[in-house]
Amino acid sequence: MNNQLYADILVEVPGMQPDRTYQYKVPRNLVGSVQFGNRVKVPFGKQKVTGFVVGLSEEKAVEKVKEIINLVDNGRLFREDQLELAKWLAGYYFCSTVKALQAVIAPALKKTTPRPVARLYSVVEPAQLPELRRQMTRSPKRLAALETALQHPGLNKRELASMAGVSLFVVNQLCAGGILKVETNLPVRDPYPQYRLTEQAQVSLTGEQSRAVQDVADAIRKGRHRAFMLHGVTGSGKTEVYLHCIEQVLGTGRQAITLVPEISLTPQMVRLYKARFGQHVAVLHSRMSDGERYDEWTRIENGSAPVVLGVRSAILAPVPDPGLIIIDEEHEPSYKQEEAPRYHARAVALYRARKSRGVLVLGSATPSLESYCRALPGGEYKLINMRHRINGKSMPNVQLVDMRREVQSGNSAIFSLVLLQKLREKLHNKEQAIIFLNRRGFKTLVVCRECGLVLKCPRCEISLTYHTDGRLRCHYCNYRVQAPKICPDCGGGQVGYFGTGTQRVEMELSAALPGGRILRMDADTTIRKGSHEQILSAFSNGEADILVGTQMVAKGLDLPGVTLVGVINADSSLHMPDFRAGERTFQLLAQVAGRTGRGDKPGEVLIQTHTPEHYAVQAASRHNYSAFFQSEIAVRKEMGYPPFAKMVRVLLSGKDDAAVQQAAEKIRTQLDGFVEGANGGKIMIVGPAPAPLPRLKEDYRWHIILWSADYRRLRLVMERFQRATGGAAPGKELRMSIDVDPMYI
Ligand code: ADP
Ligand code: ZN
Repeated sequence: MNNQLYADILVEVPGMQPDRTYQYKVPRNLVGSVQFGNRVKVPFGKQKVTGFVVGLSEEKAVEKVKEIINLVDNGRLFREDQLELAKWLAGYYFCSTVKALQAVIAPALKKTTPRPVARLYSVVEPAQLPELRRQMTRSPKRLAALETALQHPGLNKRELASMAGVSLFVVNQLCAGGILKVETNLPVRDPYPQYRLTEQAQVSLTGEQSRAVQDVADAIRKGRHRAFMLHGVTGSGKTEVYLHCIEQVLGTGRQAITLVPEISLTPQMVRLYKARFGQHVAVLHSRMSDGERYDEWTRIENGSAPVVLGVRSAILAPVPDPGLIIIDEEHEPSYKQEEAPRYHARAVALYRARKSRGVLVLGSATPSLESYCRALPGGEYKLINMRHRINGKSMPNVQLVDMRREVQSGNSAIFSLVLLQKLREKLHNKEQAIIFLNRRGFKTLVVCRECGLVLKCPRCEISLTYHTDGRLRCHYCNYRVQAPKICPDCGGGQVGYFGTGTQRVEMELSAALPGGRILRMDADTTIRKGSHEQILSAFSNGEADILVGTQMVAKGLDLPGVTLVGVINADSSLHMPDFRAGERTFQLLAQVAGRTGRGDKPGEVLIQTHTPEHYAVQAASRHNYSAFFQSEIAVRKEMGYPPFAKMVRVLLSGKDDAAVQQAAEKIRTQLDGFVEGANGGKIMIVGPAPAPLPRLKEDYRWHIILWSADYRRLRLVMERFQRATGGAAPGKELRMSIDVDPMYI
């Protein structure tokens, strides 16, 4: 029997039901080739669009069925469980299934084939070498090329020519003369070729560490879902706990995913994992080439890399049967994706761990309020505490420096007297220091002293930062402009520069500390691939005394030589208009303080602040998470904010401010209707109001925020809203997004 075959195809059509599939005929010539997981081209209305095959049948579901045009790739791009994951993402985060699926299989969509590389090898018999060398004395360039090829087999032509200091012509002559031979093969794109499995001296675990491993290992052995909150102070050895737990899960034939924030995925971390698990590790992060990522992805999918180490998106990796998922620094805001699907890796991890009966470990020295609440007695997570640093090292002594007093006593410089004095001591004793501040650039504010105009990015309404190259830059969209001599508004000649960025700190430090060797690490000094590694290894090799940087230096680094951390301004994150500002400040201060005293000598921390009395600053200075938690949770409870409620944000954006605002008003009315329909006096709704970045990359942005302790009812409202709108904004040239559990509001 040769029945007609039909395929269910997922296509993304704005304004239509975001999870809807459409049926298409499979043309005769593609029967046998079209299968679940294929990407295909299909006609849709008057267009041709790309879709994904998610089902096949011999029954026609509708009268008029069009035909598939062609297959886009050979082979399937996803499995059933990956489609299920995409459907869950789409449902939870109110986005289209296609968008979610595209995120789940992103590396496969950017598949690239490695290009063959020609490598050169000498084909001269060793016995003939002396004779050949003698013959070549009159052509020294050819001799040089030959000697280099002998010493470095496997270079390509260009590399050999440049290393030997000869032209390509000379290399070609050697090839033509049958002295060098070209071999072509496909390279494996290994992003970390320098790291290999090493026989590491196994550390013996401390009591706290082995109790933690025991707890997790028990759960792994039972093969049931369980979640742990590993609350361990900085330097308590959480990484070693992770490594041991991974060994346990590999023993059961299952796989493990470890997530780390982008900035913590340091060469140190990769080296640790590679040293323990060698080629079984696949690394995934955003600075890899598409090819490198695709190769790692394939090794994960086919099971040859059961240990995945990566950033946020690695939670979507095609790991067949994850028995263990670890999220290091689980409180980090970078685990939230800021475009659709706007997922939080922690939420996805919980979904995957439940689904696969796997174990979830959330590690942090400063847990998010959301997670810590779930780890309180009777909660869903089991709490594991590690209260001590390795080898009985003490937590660093933290001193708060009240910058108001500093000014009163006549010092209005960036650095307090005590910080400078400590830095001099460190230089004298040949110890290292980290200076942290959350702003890059030279001066962070440019103001006309006559009319008061603040120079802002014309596209983003964000104040511009002055950089030492004489230009002003927008740190959101990278708009650049030459710094003006006269005010563009009033024509006045007194343009003033204020505020402090890392460039200025670096410059003023080198003036204040002659002979001090200073390195800077921020987004400006780490643009080139590998520059991050270079700066860190130079610093850890003792090639510099002071490392100045933004949050890149605050987190995750393990630098035993550092005995002092200076925080230039603790207040910069405290006064953000966001209900998580206190939490972020506490986390940042505790993390940055954790970078010192990790070696043999005790560490100390100096925090400069204008509000030393704030509970977040106070608690951080005493390493007292629980004091912070008690104060913060009381505030959240009073306001009815998360974790006591779930929040959803609806954001409208577009080029015309009035149109965006009008659309937002309309949506507010619509939402009000659904809230009433849901019989929900328990749902809070505010807005529309200008979003925290009211103008971004030429778009005006307005948002509406809904929150409720009764998430089921809030979901119901959002589901009805989404069905009514199809997820599309009311009006052309406008965009709408729904953000569940938004991070910055
Ligand atoms: P955390 O992530 O909790 O801040 P790390 O995992 O970076 O801490 O560990 C801190 C330091 O202690 C690292 O240098 C690590 O190599 C070392 N370390 C961890 N466990 C042990 C152990 N059992 N014995 C000796 N050193 C250890
Ligand atoms: Zn901008």
